[in-house]
Amino acid sequence: MTVRRPDVPRQLYRDLLPEAGHRCPIPACGAVVVEVAHIIPWRQVRRHDFANMIALCPTCHARFDRGDIDRASMRAYKSALTGPGADRFRLVDAYRGLQTALDAWVSSINAYVIWDLTDDSHEANDTLLAECSELADRSWNAAEALGRAASADTADAGESVCSSVQAWADDVIAGRWPDSSSAPDEHPDPLRGLDPLHRAVCGDVSLRPDVLPMSLDEWSL
Ligand SMILES: [Zn+2]
Repeated sequence: MTVRRPDVPRQLYRDLLPEAGHRCPIPACGAVVVEVAHIIPWRQVRRHDFANMIALCPTCHARFDRGDIDRASMRAYKSALTGPGADRFRLVDAYRGLQTALDAWVSSINAYVIWDLTDDSHEANDTLLAECSELADRSWNAAEALGRAASADTADAGESVCSSVQAWADDVIAGRWPDSSSAPDEHPDPLRGLDPLHRAVCGDVSLRPDVLPMSLDEWSL
């Protein structure tokens, strides 16, 4: 199905061009003829949204489309701008940072579970433990960073996800999980807080929950 791409609303030009000071925001460029570009492509988000858009000169826009400038760099350029809506962008960026950190933390805990189930030595695996602990710190820091950029509700929701993952990690490392005496479905899902967090973030930035990527897979499409 082809979805017709609507024109970029004039108001978005009025917001995006002043945000960039009517110049290309790529530091070494600074060209004065600018157009607007989507950071996550339109074909994916199907929406013109300030937080996902940036003013660029046609040359840098083409370089971005070709992949000469990657998306992470473009997000950093957007993040460095200070016009209206830049706070909103920083919040989305902080949310993505927390998603990235949590993803790595959960993988490290799962790796520990698998090691624990297959290991017969019954000695702690210091390498995996160190990794879990480092990734836990990274997630808590990311939740704190999100909290600084977001509403109190979102800050609480981010902290709550980290708390339930932390409780799960503590149980796994102490050998209390998985516990053979209880059925697996008696374990609360450690990621049960992700939905409320997603809704809180979307509320903060006024985006529909299905528009903002909820997982890293969706961001990297
Ligand atoms: Zn440029």
